Amino acid sequence: MNWLLIFLAFSSWAAGEDGSQLEISHLARSLQPGEAVLLKAHSPVPLSSMQVEAFGKAFVFYPTEDGRVWEGLVGIDLETTPDDYSLSLTGFTIGGVPVEATYSLRVLDKEFPTRRLTVEEKFVNPPQQELERIRRESKRTREIFAAFNPEKIWHSSFQSPVPGAPTSGFGKRSILNGQPRSPHTGTDFDADEGTPVKSPNTGQVVLVSPLYYSGNTVILDHGQGLYSYFGHLSRFAVAEGDRVSPGEVIGYVGATGRVTGPHLHWTVRLNGTRIDPLSLIAILADQDGE
Ligand SMILES: [Zn+2]
Repeated sequence: MNWLLIFLAFSSWAAGEDGSQLEISHLARSLQPGEAVLLKAHSPVPLSSMQVEAFGKAFVFYPTEDGRVWEGLVGIDLETTPDDYSLSLTGFTIGGVPVEATYSLRVLDKEFPTRRLTVEEKFVNPPQQELERIRRESKRTREIFAAFNPEKIWHSSFQSPVPGAPTSGFGKRSILNGQPRSPHTGTDFDADEGTPVKSPNTGQVVLVSPLYYSGNTVILDHGQGLYSYFGHLSRFAVAEGDRVSPGEVIGYVGATGRVTGPHLHWTVRLNGTRIDPLSLIAILADQDGE
């Protein structure tokens, strides 16, 4: 019971030299809206579970070594207000004793550029008869992203789904046919029509469907609240319920839905937070090199 008090008393970066305290660190490209952050906690005693409460959401941790080293992905949503945020970590020892800590992150401002696109008018002001379909599709994708699958399906690092360079960045404010629309919540990759789109990691296929705005769309559940969404495909190569391996072809690049030409759109959601897929690739690649 003695060391419970020690755990409750420690704070961020307060790594005990004597090993009696939890040691917390983070890895990120930057602490800005739209970035994924990898948190790491070293515990002097083995734990059976750990989670973190950050930005009003709970993100789960997974053990990496013998229950003493835990990691967890946290998303700083695209529209997070720059400020100092306190994260609360809670773990439990094998015996069920709670271990708690706080860690602070300072989220800095980010200026997202504006993009002006010209698309077919029906994608800016959809006709009346399509509104019901659009509402239904948006409800379905919201429900998928809100579902929490406790299984950690993904592992190791994330790979780019196509060889081409990313072209249109995440978070850009969009002005379509002169009218402001919601920010770009994914990253676009330049690729020719028909280029195979490869799964960036292991995933469970939870949606394969033509959607009004994103055209032929595939959603992968990577587990623990992490999802990938691929849009504008010409063709599908998977079916709902399939489990795909990293590098497995899920479909082919196309120009379906609201587009100006063939490209791949990749959106990532982490417990509902909208984060740049490239930040996920970057932080997990760095870690592999350790
Ligand atoms: Zn896009």
